[in-house]
Amino acid sequence: MSATTAFSDVEALLARMTLDEKIGQMTQLDLMMVTDRSVRPIRLDEEKLREAVVTYGIGSFFNTGVGFAMELEDWNRVQRTIQDMIRQETPNRIPLLFGIDSIHGATFVREATLFPQQIAMGATRNPELMRRASEVSARETRAAGLRWAFAPVLDVGRNALWSRLPETFGEDPYLVSTFGVAAVEGLEGENVAGCGSVASCIKHYIGYSVPVSGKDRSPALIPEAQLREYYLPPFQAAVRSGAKTVMLNSGEVNGIPGHANKYLINDVLRGELGFDGVVVSDWEDVIRLHTWHKTAETPAEAVRQAIEAGLDMSMVPLDFSFFHLLKELVTQGKVSEQRIDESVRRILRLKAEVGLFENPYPEPEAVAAFGESGYRELAVEAATEALTLLKNESGTLPFAKDVRVLVAGPAATSLGALHGCWSYSWLGWDEDHYPPGTPTLADAIASKFGSENVAVRRGVEFNGLDIDAEAAVTAAAQADVVVLCLGENSYAETPGDINDLDLPQGQQDFALRFYATGKPVVLVLLEGRGRVIREIEQGAAAILMAYWPGGGGAEAIAEVLTGDANPSGKLPFTYARHANNLVTYDRKFTSAVTEISAPGDIKLHPSKPQWEFGHGLSYTTFDISNLRLSSDILRPGETLTVSVDVKNTGSRAGKETVELYTSDLFASTTPAGKRLRAFTKISLDPGEMRTVTFALTAADLAFVDAGCRTITEPGEFDILIGGLTARFRYEAA
Ligand code: BGC
Repeated sequence: MSATTAFSDVEALLARMTLDEKIGQMTQLDLMMVTDRSVRPIRLDEEKLREAVVTYGIGSFFNTGVGFAMELEDWNRVQRTIQDMIRQETPNRIPLLFGIDSIHGATFVREATLFPQQIAMGATRNPELMRRASEVSARETRAAGLRWAFAPVLDVGRNALWSRLPETFGEDPYLVSTFGVAAVEGLEGENVAGCGSVASCIKHYIGYSVPVSGKDRSPALIPEAQLREYYLPPFQAAVRSGAKTVMLNSGEVNGIPGHANKYLINDVLRGELGFDGVVVSDWEDVIRLHTWHKTAETPAEAVRQAIEAGLDMSMVPLDFSFFHLLKELVTQGKVSEQRIDESVRRILRLKAEVGLFENPYPEPEAVAAFGESGYRELAVEAATEALTLLKNESGTLPFAKDVRVLVAGPAATSLGALHGCWSYSWLGWDEDHYPPGTPTLADAIASKFGSENVAVRRGVEFNGLDIDAEAAVTAAAQADVVVLCLGENSYAETPGDINDLDLPQGQQDFALRFYATGKPVVLVLLEGRGRVIREIEQGAAAILMAYWPGGGGAEAIAEVLTGDANPSGKLPFTYARHANNLVTYDRKFTSAVTEISAPGDIKLHPSKPQWEFGHGLSYTTFDISNLRLSSDILRPGETLTVSVDVKNTGSRAGKETVELYTSDLFASTTPAGKRLRAFTKISLDPGEMRTVTFALTAADLAFVDAGCRTITEPGEFDILIGGLTARFRYEAA
C-alpha cells in the first residue's frame, strides 16, 4: 500500500467510524489490563480482551502484561490473538498498534540483543554505530510482532543527578541531535512498513531532563531562549528526519505540565517544527494533570487540557476512564468531533504507514531475523567504542595476559550494572530475567585471563554495605593487579533518584583499603551517571568508565584490559569533582570569575570538574596539528573550510574523535565559552596521518538570542580543535 493510497483509505475509514470507535483509537492500555500477571507463560483473558478491543475498540496496547521480557513465540501468539479478535468481532477491523519500550535493544523480548545505554552510545562519538544498533533493535522488536518503539530519548542530559541521564546521549544538544537522528533512521529504516522497521517515538517532549531538584518528574525552570538553545534542537532534527511519534514530558516546565502545554505542543512542535505524527502521553500523565499537577480541578478537565494542548493518544493505562471522560466532553460540546478526527486521522495514518492494514500479524521474515549472527558482535563493538579511559598512569593498562587478577567490587558480578535499566525488565536489576548464562564482568575477565589466574570477591554492596571486605582486601596479596568494579546497580526513573552524587562512602573506603595494599588498582566504573570519586581518583593507577555497556559490555571490558581492544570513548558529559559544583562544558566566562578586588582586576578560578566533556584516552597517542581555515572572514551563504592534520604518534592502531568547538567572543546574550559544532571519528594505524576537514556555515555559529530568534551575530569567533585555536570574523552581508 503506497503512502497516498493509505492516506485516502484512512479518510474513507474515518468517515465510517462512530464517535466511540474514534475515542477507542485514542486510548492506549497496559497489556496487564487483560492478563493475569501471575500466570506463566502469558495468557490473555478472553473476556477482558474482548472488553478492551471490541467493546471499547482501543487503538493500542503497550508493555508486556507479565512485567518482564517474554519469549518470541509468546509475543507472536499474543499479537495473533489480539488481531484475530479485532478482525472477527469489530465492524471496521482496525488493527491494533502495539507500543513497547525497546530502549537499548528489544528490552522486552527474551534473548534480544541489548546494546550500550544511550549515554554510552554518546561516548562512542560514532553515530553510524547508533544507526546499526537501532536497526537491530527494530528487527528484534518487529520479530515479536511489535511495530512501535518508545525510543529514542532526546532529552539533553544537563543535570548530573537525574536518574534518566543514562538514557540520554549526553549534555550537548548537537551530540544528542546527531545520535537522535541516527537512532530514528535506524529504527524506521527507509520504509517503516518494512519488516525490519518500527515507528520511533522521540521523547520526552520537552524540558524533562533538567528538574531543578534533580529528582525525576519534578519541576524544571527553563527560560524560553534556553529551551530553544539546548532542548529543542534534537526534537527539531528528529522531526526533520521523519520521526513518526512523540511522547510528552511527565514533568512541568515553568509551571506548565508537559501534557497541558498547548504552546509547546500545538504551536512549537506542530506549528514551527511541522510535526504531523502522533503525540502520545507518558504513563498515566493525563489524569495526573488532576491528581499530581493540580492544573485540572476534575479528571474531565484533565482530559480536556491534554486534548486542547494537542495530545492524540493517552497511555491511560489501567482503566477506561479516558474513554468515558473524552466521550462526555464531546457530548457536552467541550471538545469538538473535528478535533477528535485530527487525532484519529494521525493514528490511522501511523497504522497504515507501519503496514498494519495490509498485514497486522507477525511476519515470518521478521521472525527469521531475530538473533541473527552479527548482532552480538555489534553489541561488543559498540561497547568497545564506548569505553572511556579516564586515566592510565604509566601505562598500567593494558595488562600482560599472564597477570593474576583480583576482580573485586559490587559491579564485578552484577548483570544490572552491566546492562542498566530497561534490560529484560523495567528496572533491569532482577537478574532472573536475563538469559541464562549471561556473563558477568568477572566471568568475562576469567575467560580472558584464564580462571586459574582470576579471583573474584565482591567485598561490598552497591550501597557500601560491607559483605566481607576484609577477605577481599586480603585476597589482593595473591594477585598482581586489582580490577575494582564500582558504581551503580541499574535503576530507572524515580527509583533512581539520589540525594547525593558522591559514590557511596562504603565503596570509596573499599577502594582506599586496596590502595593501602600497594597493588596497582584499576577502577572500572559501571554507572549510569558520573558519581563523584574525587577522594579515590588519585590512588587508582587507571580508571575505565564503562557506563552501563549492555550485553557486549563484559567482553569489551575484558578485551580492553588485555589490550585486545583499544579504548576510544569520549565523555558525553562533564564528570563532576564535587557534588555541589555541577557544571556543563559550555559554561560561561563568568562561571570562572570568583573575585574582583579592584576595577579591572579579575581573578579567574575556572571550575575544575574531575574530567571534562570530551575527555578520553587511548593506548596510543595522537597529535593534532596544522589547524587552518580557508579564510579569515566568513559571510552569509559562504562556507568556511577548517582542516587539521591528525597523526597516530604511538605504536598501536587506534581511533580518535576530532571535535570542533567554536567560541563566540562577544554576543548580545552572554556567550558560552565554547560549543561543540562538529565531530568525526577516524581510525589510524601507527605513524599514519590524515587530514580532517570540516565545513562551517553561519548556521553552525548560531545561538538563540534574548528575543528567542536563532541568529548569527557578526563578530570574531575562535575555532578550537585539540589544543589549537584559530580566529576568524563573521561579517554580515
Ligand atoms: C516512561 C517512558 C516509557 C513509558 C512506557 C514511563 O514511565 O517515562 O519513558 O516509555 O513509561 O513504559
